[in-house]
Parts: sequence; C-alpha cells; structure tokens
Amino acid sequence: MSSDVEWRESYGGLKLPFMGAAGKILDGNFHVDCPNCRKSTLRFYYHEFNKGEGTGTLWAWCPNCRLVTHLPRVEPQGWRFPDPFRDISDFGELEGGSGAPLVARLDELWVQGKIGLPEPPGTRSRESKNSKPPRR
Ligand SMILES: [Zn+2]
Repeated sequence: MSSDVEWRESYGGLKLPFMGAAGKILDGNFHVDCPNCRKSTLRFYYHEFNKGEGTGTLWAWCPNCRLVTHLPRVEPQGWRFPDPFRDISDFGELEGGSGAPLVARLDELWVQGKIGLPEPPGTRSRESKNSKPPRR
C-alpha cells in the first residue's frame, strides 16, 4: 500500500480542484471524490477560529493519495462539525505552515470517529450524548 506517502498540500493544477471539492463539502455535500486519485472520498475537519463571526478553517484531505487543502475564514452555514479542539485557544498556531503534520493527526481522529460528519443546521444540540457536557 502507499502508506509511506507523505501528506502534501495540493499543488499546481490540483490546487483549484481540491479547493473546489472542499467548497462542496462546505456546501453540504459530504461525499466528494478525491479530484486527484478518485479512489477515496475526501475527509474533512472544520475548526471555528472566530466565534463572533462564526467563521473558521475547513481542512479536506484524501486518505489515499494524501493530498490536503484548507479553506480559511469560511462559514459552515449552520452545520455543526464535531470538533474535539473547540476549546483550544492556541489552535491558530497549527494553522500556519503547510498543515501537513496537522492533517496526519486529523486523519487519525477521523479513523477514531472523533471528527466526521456534521449535524445539519437547525438540529438541537445533542452534546451530552457521547461527549463531555461543556462546563460553564
Ligand atoms: Zn486521492
């Protein structure tokens, strides 16, 4: 298998197709084929950086060919993405650079089921179901 392939940002002619695919995810299409190898659907993760504006960064990556893209300062239109790092305030440091080491970790979280499909807009919060209730 190709498990030795390093995570890379999408590059060259692949950059725009990957950004387009990530945009589809943001629009609510969560089964988007990898624009490069087409052998896997893209996995994704959203982290909200600006709680006031409700914007954040969406990462999308292919677990097969390991190409990565991210869309900064986007708005998920009410979709509630699972985010185990919601309360980490210095998460922004991870946003810099290529994002590749970050995605290696995110992919593990996806496999573990800690990140994945969001809840649709308008659903009631079910945060007490299988995660710790937020303290306030
Ligand atoms: Zn691929």
